Amino acid sequence: MTYPMSEADREIQQRARAFVDQLLPFEVQAELHGGELPAEVLQAQERRVRELGFEAVNMPKELGGGGFSAFQQVLVQEQVGRATNALGWVIHTPASWLPQVATEEQLDRWVLPTIRGERRECYAITEEGAGSDVDAIQATASRDRDGYLLNGVKWHVTSFNHADHVFFQAKLAAGPNAGAHAMFVVDLDAPGIRVVRTPAYSHTIAHHHPIVAFQDVRVPAGQLVGAEGDGMRFAYEWFRYERLMIAARALGAAERLIDEATAFAGGRRAYGRPIFDYQAIQFMLADSLTELWAARLMTYRTAHGIDEGLDVKVQHAQCSMAKLYASEMAGRVADRAVQVFGGRGYMRENVAERFYRELRVDRIWEGTSEIQRAIIASQLAKRGVARLIG
Ligand SMILES: Cc1cc2nc3c(=O)[nH]c(=O)nc-3n(C[C@H](O)[C@H](O)[C@H](O)COP(=O)(O)OP(=O)(O)OC[C@H]3O[C@@H](n4cnc5c(N)ncnc54)[C@H](O)[C@@H]3O)c2cc1C
Repeated sequence: MTYPMSEADREIQQRARAFVDQLLPFEVQAELHGGELPAEVLQAQERRVRELGFEAVNMPKELGGGGFSAFQQVLVQEQVGRATNALGWVIHTPASWLPQVATEEQLDRWVLPTIRGERRECYAITEEGAGSDVDAIQATASRDRDGYLLNGVKWHVTSFNHADHVFFQAKLAAGPNAGAHAMFVVDLDAPGIRVVRTPAYSHTIAHHHPIVAFQDVRVPAGQLVGAEGDGMRFAYEWFRYERLMIAARALGAAERLIDEATAFAGGRRAYGRPIFDYQAIQFMLADSLTELWAARLMTYRTAHGIDEGLDVKVQHAQCSMAKLYASEMAGRVADRAVQVFGGRGYMRENVAERFYRELRVDRIWEGTSEIQRAIIASQLAKRGVARLIG
């Protein structure tokens, strides 16, 4: 209760915490069944999310979303992060950058139904030869009569199996904007979209990340999002948002791990004493708590800055710092938690084992740790210490 926040913020935090608490008993079942929960359990959880007002909390109120502040969203995502197996993803956050640029038709067909929880999106940006270096994408959009023909093979398309439309990023093949990026919204039942294969990943979650081929997918010009050349701008906006939310989820994961490891260390006896009595164990927990506190302050402060209208470039650097530090912090905490649990920490039924695998990707997706450092360093060179952190 030490971090200052309004009563309304605290109520949101408690509401989210109570929701996630009742998800935790499903984790082992999900882990042992490829991340899947029985359909009736999932539907009940989705209903609960709507009743609690947690559907599309990041979307504007006037469009039917929650209209939560950045700080309130961090509070919700922090709780989401306490559950393994992505069970918290039942709290769905649509593309928050879209309403400002969507046409009337795009609002009606994709944005509003997504806010109502009737539709779901996925993102197809990364390719075999283009991850960190997004500008290396080979996917093309060619002008074709009154629309475009889309071609390309996309990797790691998260939630493809839960989505019904995709944001597809390509380079314009010809015309005045040749070589510039463009983003398209495409229904997944469009002819020419095919799953190449669905690889297995370290984590066990119900959302897959297939490799997806787009071959001569024809879309009308009305499915271009924004203008030709805008593609990268949307990607950056989404990265900024998602990086802060990754930091928030890392906080929740670390809190849960520290709680559970501390409780275990208090009860587990070795050589006639609880292992918590040993300084080696205490120090792992003490370092973990200290680093969690630092990451939490950084993440909360970044969110407050966004709500106060902080310069967007400074936001960009701070979101990178929060993601970098919080994701690496959570990785260290998970590693120590496995150690505290000993052999049990290596069992898939143990929370530390699951987080040890699951948290690894937070140092990779939405920009690797190296890319976050590159962003932070470039901002430092341009703006200096005081502009970036006060
Ligand atoms: C589970 C999962 C889900 C994903 N979901 C999606 C999704 O839904 N949609 C989507 O489009 N993408 C998705 N991605 C892709 C993700 O964003 C990329 O994996 C990530 O950006 C890194 O790209 P890469 O894998 O090609 O690695 P690379 O870019 O090839 O990097 C390999 C290594 O080189 C380092 N490196 C690269 N450039 C530099 C540099 N300039 N300086 C220093 N080091 C550098 C990297 O940090 C990394 O360590 C997902 C990935 C995963 C693992």
